[in-house]
Amino acid sequence: MEMGRSPAVAVKKSLTPKAIIYQRFGGKVCYEVEEVQESTENGCPGLAIPQKGPSLYRCCLQLPEFSVVSGTFKKKKDAEQSAAKMALEKLGVHPTTDIPTVQEAWDDLVARLSYLFSNGFISSLHTPHPLSGHLRAALRREGHLNALIPVSVIAVYDTRLNTLCKYINPEVESNPLLVMSLILRAARLCVSVCTSEEQLSIKRQHPYPSEIIDSIVNQQSCLPESILIEAICIPYSVEKTIEPLALTVFSNGYYMDVIARELGVTDASKVLISRTIGKAASEMRLYFPAPMVYPMDPSSELHAKEAVQFEGSLNARASYISGQVIYGDAILASIGYTWKSTDLFHEDVSLRTYYRSFISKIPSGLYKMSREAILAADLPIAFTMRTNWRGSFPKELLYTFCRQHRLSEPVFSPISNPLESLVELPGSCNMLKVTESGKEESDGGGIAVADGVPVGSKQNFRCEVKVFSKFQELILQCSPKESFKKQSDAIQNAALKVLSWLNTYFKEPDMSLDELTSSGDVLDIQFYPRYFFKEFELCPSVHNVRQSIGTQGGRPSHSNSMNQIDDMAGGSMCLMKIEGPDSGLSPSHGCLACICYTISLVTEEEVMKEILESSEEFEFEIGTGAVIPHLEGVVTQMSVGQSAFFYMKLPPEELLLAAAGESARTLSLLSSKGCSLECCITLLRVMEPLEDRMEQALFSPPLSKQRVEHALQHIKESCATSLVDFGCGSGSLLDSLLNNPTSLETIVGVDISQKSLSRAAKILHSKLNTIADAVMPSTGIKSTMLYEGSITDFDSRLYGFDIGTCLEVIEHMEEDQACLFGDLVLSSFCPRILIVSTPNYEYNVILQRSTLQNQEDPDEEIQSQSCKFRNHDHKFEWTRKQFNSWATDVATRHNYSVEFSGVGGVADVEPGFASQIAVFRRGDESLKNVNLAHCYQVIWEWNSSTRSRSAF
Ligand code: SAH
Ligand code: MG
Repeated sequence: MEMGRSPAVAVKKSLTPKAIIYQRFGGKVCYEVEEVQESTENGCPGLAIPQKGPSLYRCCLQLPEFSVVSGTFKKKKDAEQSAAKMALEKLGVHPTTDIPTVQEAWDDLVARLSYLFSNGFISSLHTPHPLSGHLRAALRREGHLNALIPVSVIAVYDTRLNTLCKYINPEVESNPLLVMSLILRAARLCVSVCTSEEQLSIKRQHPYPSEIIDSIVNQQSCLPESILIEAICIPYSVEKTIEPLALTVFSNGYYMDVIARELGVTDASKVLISRTIGKAASEMRLYFPAPMVYPMDPSSELHAKEAVQFEGSLNARASYISGQVIYGDAILASIGYTWKSTDLFHEDVSLRTYYRSFISKIPSGLYKMSREAILAADLPIAFTMRTNWRGSFPKELLYTFCRQHRLSEPVFSPISNPLESLVELPGSCNMLKVTESGKEESDGGGIAVADGVPVGSKQNFRCEVKVFSKFQELILQCSPKESFKKQSDAIQNAALKVLSWLNTYFKEPDMSLDELTSSGDVLDIQFYPRYFFKEFELCPSVHNVRQSIGTQGGRPSHSNSMNQIDDMAGGSMCLMKIEGPDSGLSPSHGCLACICYTISLVTEEEVMKEILESSEEFEFEIGTGAVIPHLEGVVTQMSVGQSAFFYMKLPPEELLLAAAGESARTLSLLSSKGCSLECCITLLRVMEPLEDRMEQALFSPPLSKQRVEHALQHIKESCATSLVDFGCGSGSLLDSLLNNPTSLETIVGVDISQKSLSRAAKILHSKLNTIADAVMPSTGIKSTMLYEGSITDFDSRLYGFDIGTCLEVIEHMEEDQACLFGDLVLSSFCPRILIVSTPNYEYNVILQRSTLQNQEDPDEEIQSQSCKFRNHDHKFEWTRKQFNSWATDVATRHNYSVEFSGVGGVADVEPGFASQIAVFRRGDESLKNVNLAHCYQVIWEWNSSTRSRSAF
């Protein structure tokens, strides 16, 4: 009945305009679908806020010669088809005349087969066809196999045959066995060829003329050469390891027979061939055994479809990397005849090649490869600035990911909210809520306006992204809440969120649905389990038996990265040594660090060592997780010019082997006991975050120094004996107190970041020891202490100090936390004097202008950062009005007086000081009793009587 089907209907059903375009142009066309928002004017001129209507899609199709734009459609695929149809009309292609009917396709198929086995085809050596090489090699086969061509070979290497089969039955696309079945049927209808007994090979009915045979078989006058080709064996059982395999092919033999022997099947006709893997021009394919019961009953192709009953078991790894269903043991090799030459083409496929294909299926793997740092790099968690990103951009990575998994291209829908014409609403509190330098969030009616001066960006861009299966089923959707000044940044951010989430899944494909859903919630991602799991169904079986990729641990987060170092010391990292003089120049959050590194595999006694990965210059942004946590943890403890040296536990084998240049040696090392990774790093340079660059460009002495000077002034005037520095960071204020004589006896620093504290401890420790050696002016300081803890928690040991300082800290906390700190410090810590500094948001315009002037080549990217925050770790920045009202309110509540001043700039000249400072003074002199609460942890302590005692 199959062939009796009405041809016209079958054709119309099977070939869409898009498919015809594809047949004509292949990959040379580009469909771009954009989402068109139906916007309704809301009647307010100048306030064209789009009302969210139903989404419509428009498609622009670009062909080599011209492009067309479709109308708008509710479905993306309709827009594409419409564009394709318009293009066909322009090309003068009329589907009905151009597409063969099923009967015509059968006739063509038979004719094509006949042509492939004609004298002309085999002897046209100047334009070699991949199949002609097989035909020639088959003529050299011995005995009953002589001149036989495996059907699998014909099915894979002749595209024209494939196309014709698609006309006959569109399902061949998803079932390669069906092509073979159709070709066999055509062979039976073709008088010039015959099929072999097992029906898996085709040969010419009558032998080629002897001249042709002579010219081919006796071509080689000299002795046959043997060619050694490295390939990879991928056993179907995931418990068995992937092994290298050497294929020995003789120049007078047929390589398919060699592969058949390796697979343990009788001959080449029992070997199936996958599509190419990896790069477009690659000949790398998987070879695997055909089913034992070969369902090639020519009476119906339906049987072939149903009877994919293989004797072997599913080869999950091979199926995973090829995206095709593969059974039994498989061989990965790069070998074959090409369009370029009649000689056999071959390349070695090493374990490294295999593992690279393997990890390139995973977002973090793709990123690692784009950075050529498989062991060192990791997919960053944040897209802070274009200028700070290294390696392929998230959008590119997501496109590659979708290609790798044979999904449709991701669809990005940027949405813009024009805000420029909005004016300050009277009475609104104008809390500007910006979470990072690149993104702004105006919550609800919150408008980026300060005292009537629009300081926000003119346009806010958001971007949604959707990922569809090949059949246009929606797999997932990410709708980030953040807005960006630049559309491209909004796109990158959305892409990165999707990649991060996918990465979470790949790291732990067994994760429960709940966990997966909630990790999606965090990233504004909604996924559709039914389609998602369908696409990635093989992941769990591939990722189960071994440790998952990237087991190097979680992401370094702001507060617990030091804990990870501790973990590493006990577990996966040990023996860290930092060498060289401390230059004092250390990378902090947001800096770009440039390192030189070598990672080697070493055996326990270091008898053997193999360099796996190294780089002369490797740059990354601190604090975004752009490298493995170990590396970042160490680098943040170093200063420029220093070298560090440490051991790490081995990462998963695929990462090691993907990085290893010479995998055979690596394998033998791995089999010897007690291997670990040795890492040597030198910190070459550090690029300051934008804030510091800006401050340095405009102020002399630098603003940070001016803040400290300002605080010192108050300290000296107050005759204080005790001081606590809330959010002391690396201890710049405490350090300067050791250089300047004051009345202080006790100084304490508190910070939440262990990294910063360890830097502070290092600096203070060496300084105090020098003082003890009586070189420095005596300071009268008797005790110095560093506490780890959050300044939003109370610790009674810091109660009633003479002075509290809190310089450039509150803007690093969420706004509500900053307000909480204000109340807590004045109500519970009760310092006699409290000095708080924070950036003046209104001053940013000037800072930006100056950096731009100082820039020889004013970078567009930097400009795009203008009028935002000074540092991407800032959670907010207040205008003078906002700061004043906060400080006045909190002072009034707790019976303090407050005075305002600042550093950088002049008080009465717009826009005020660069850093605004509030000095609070306690009104009521007596102190009340307090609850004993010790929630800070002593990190380091120094005492003049007991000399030094330290945790370091
Ligand atoms: N005062 C220092 C450091 C400013 S950077 C200077 O002027 O150089 C801000 C510091 O605040 C960082 O070190 C950060 O770790 C710290 N910080 C942020 N939130 C904190 C919190 N809740 N408790 C304690 N420290 C905090
Ligand atoms: Mg700051």
